[in-house]
Amino acid sequence: MEPDSRTVPSRGQRSGRRSGGKPTKRTDADADATVTIVGGGVHGVHLAVRLLGADVIELDELRIVDPSAPLESFRRKCHQCGMVELRSPFVHHVGTDPFSLRDFARAHGREDELVPSTVGAERPTASLFFDHAEALCDRYDLESIRVDDRATAIVDRRNGVETRTDSRRIRSRWCLLAVGYGHAVTRPAWAERVASTGPVTHVWDPAFDPEAVGETSSVGVVGGGITAGQLATTLVRPGRDVVLFARSPFRVETLEASTDWMHFSGAMEELHAHPPGSSAREELVSDARYDGTMPPYVFRRLQRALERGEVELERSEIEVATEAGGTVVVTCRDGSAFCLDELICATGFGSPYDGELFRHLRGESALRTGYRGAPVLDDDTLRWMRQDGTLSRIAVSGAAARQVLGPFAHNVIGARRAGELIAGFLESELAVGRREPELAN
Ligand SMILES: Cc1cc2nc3c(=O)[nH]c(=O)nc-3n(C[C@H](O)[C@H](O)[C@H](O)COP(=O)(O)OP(=O)(O)OC[C@H]3O[C@@H](n4cnc5c(N)ncnc54)[C@H](O)[C@@H]3O)c2cc1C
Repeated sequence: MEPDSRTVPSRGQRSGRRSGGKPTKRTDADADATVTIVGGGVHGVHLAVRLLGADVIELDELRIVDPSAPLESFRRKCHQCGMVELRSPFVHHVGTDPFSLRDFARAHGREDELVPSTVGAERPTASLFFDHAEALCDRYDLESIRVDDRATAIVDRRNGVETRTDSRRIRSRWCLLAVGYGHAVTRPAWAERVASTGPVTHVWDPAFDPEAVGETSSVGVVGGGITAGQLATTLVRPGRDVVLFARSPFRVETLEASTDWMHFSGAMEELHAHPPGSSAREELVSDARYDGTMPPYVFRRLQRALERGEVELERSEIEVATEAGGTVVVTCRDGSAFCLDELICATGFGSPYDGELFRHLRGESALRTGYRGAPVLDDDTLRWMRQDGTLSRIAVSGAAARQVLGPFAHNVIGARRAGELIAGFLESELAVGRREPELAN
């Protein structure tokens, strides 16, 4: 492990460079920073863009720790389930100005990639969303400040935070956790009993690639929500059998929760009236989420595939799955049985509090956790509270902040709200922090 510098440069020492020469990926170990963002997905990138765009910090004061390129994880998931259009409107993107994606589409003659929506604002295609995001990442030179590593531990100190990876320690004044679900997925009990190397996979397994599914395979998709609907229709090919195992009737919803939750209305006040970290908050958010639903355009696509016989619908629940010579035989509750070459679970994410990093922090730090391991966060700043009631220098954005941000916490709109809160408090804190040159041990 290489040594760390213990000081953060004063404002006068900072280069002030927004985007210098050719970006070079940062892999040096002595990478002290003012702010370390762990996770360079939708949330991490938005936080970076917001902090840099508002001049809260300079580029050389920021690190983004992520073993993947910016937004790569989200891009991969969209590919894995065949998502070609976002569910959310065009004002939900990783930039700060709500209209920058629309302006980007106009400037590049791509207005036809803003597709109509049943709730007013148009939705961007995935390719437009990612091209716009990539342009922002380039503008702010984010790849040059990426530390190409996975954070394994975060150590909270009074005046700073140490982010540890297998090969380095990064000291910074502040750490922003934006790690998404951290590979936590939900699998049916029968799938847990089948070897993960066999023909049963999860759509979010990093290795799953829909392009690698055999042209003439018999494929099963398990689930009844947006991901299952998209995946089943994406897999349709002449000569391929696709069976959708959906135990409940389909539910159609345009968004993932009521729009009341987007506008910081009474719904949010009701949420914040409960104690942070409580079961009441967790349950209110879970009840507000339209989990397992699909938007109208996905439902229509699925309906057409069902009518044409391209997808077969099995309304029963799988009870047993057995591997048999490279195939999997499933038996359903209604007694029907299928022999499949591949069976893909589109059964959702697990708890955002059960990702590796959160489990580690729960066990190893003096940070306060609540119901089901939820981080106890300050409603105004998203800062993680310590057990002694003081606020740590770690703030959380994304799904794990849903007890503060509500049911859209993991969405792009959640990132935007988290960005406002975090940039707001950091701006004033950093003005004070600049007078404290030394990080405490
Ligand atoms: C298929 C799909 C479609 C969606 N469509 C929409 C939509 O239309 N509109 C909308 O608002 N929302 C949508 N969402 C929800 C949400 O916007 C995305 O899930 C988004 O990717 C969440 O961003 P994130 O930054 O929290 O997580 P991610 O994008 O998953 O990024 C997390 C990042 O953290 C990194 N990371 C994890 N652990 C560590 C670690 N220990 N150390 C360092 N780095 C780590 C990962 O490598 C990853 O890059 C969709 C989600 C999915 C899956």
